[in-house]
Amino acid sequence: MPDIKTIGFIGIGNMGRPMAANLAKSGYAVVVYDLDGKRAQQAAKDIGAKAAATLAELGKQADAVITMLPTGKEVRACLFEAEGGALANSLPKGALIIDMSSSDPVGSRATHADLAKRGLAFVDAPVSGGVPRATDGSLAIMIGGDAAAVEAAKPVLAKMGKRLFAVGGPGNGHAMKALNNFVAGTAFIAVSEALLAGQKFGLDPAAMVDVMDASSGHSFCTEHVAKQHVVSRQFASGFALGLMAKDVGIAAGLAKAIGADSPLIGLSSALFDEARDKVGAEKDHTLAYTYWERRDKKAAAE
Ligand code: NAD
Repeated sequence: MPDIKTIGFIGIGNMGRPMAANLAKSGYAVVVYDLDGKRAQQAAKDIGAKAAATLAELGKQADAVITMLPTGKEVRACLFEAEGGALANSLPKGALIIDMSSSDPVGSRATHADLAKRGLAFVDAPVSGGVPRATDGSLAIMIGGDAAAVEAAKPVLAKMGKRLFAVGGPGNGHAMKALNNFVAGTAFIAVSEALLAGQKFGLDPAAMVDVMDASSGHSFCTEHVAKQHVVSRQFASGFALGLMAKDVGIAAGLAKAIGADSPLIGLSSALFDEARDKVGAEKDHTLAYTYWERRDKKAAAE
């Protein structure tokens, strides 16, 4: 593994920008690239990095590359397709690619194998914590990959996250992330249904959240989401419905690919897909509650 001094960072969006800023702040030379060239240039200026105009330009300078893109599809496009596969072709042998996007784990195993054939190392290291924890460098990071590559990635990842979990071989980080978000997303569906049914029966929604939060119904949702964003009707958790539907859909795809008997994953995925189609992918995921509320009222009227 090369000594990592220069990091190419691809995908300077809501999460990527503060993560790249933390790397630059901690002394790495950072070169950023984004499909939106103006965004990359502005970010480079703001965080003390360089902007690359092409993936090839980024690849030639980097000892390691981090991707923080919407899905694994864009990660593969950047590595193997854009500019005729210039990124994978321009990286020095032994370079480390760390995909921190919430990508599909089956695809990530294929990416790992394709990069290994070229003498390039791959680690999947998706994150949990959202923009606030990307900004203060306290993300939880789930790492999958070959042992030597994981060890090489850890000092870099430690500049962006507080809790690093090495969870096994290639793809395992992405599988862990999708399954975690399935659990979190399904808890949100369960709390939403409980609030709707409880209110119909005459319970006060704020009191319901207090009770669940202090009882065995406790979850991230009852502690940080239900009162703050649903009962208050603020609907501004900062995590988009399209991303939630994507993550739970990845978990459903994983269950299908391995032939797991997981009926709830499929149901949860279908409920989020439907809500995303009705409410809008870019809207806050907590707004799914308003769709389920409308559906519940309609059912009562029929
Ligand atoms: P975002 O849409 O804000 O940023 C994505 C960036 O990638 C954009 O700047 C876009 O221009 C760029 N991009 C898209 N396709 C590209 C391509 N082919 N080549 C180069 N650049 C390209 O998304 P985000 O919120 O930063 O999320 C990134 C990843 O992190 C996603 O996989 C998401 O699921 C995951 N994630 C997000 C959060 C969150 O709270 N936002 C939390 C945890 C994990």
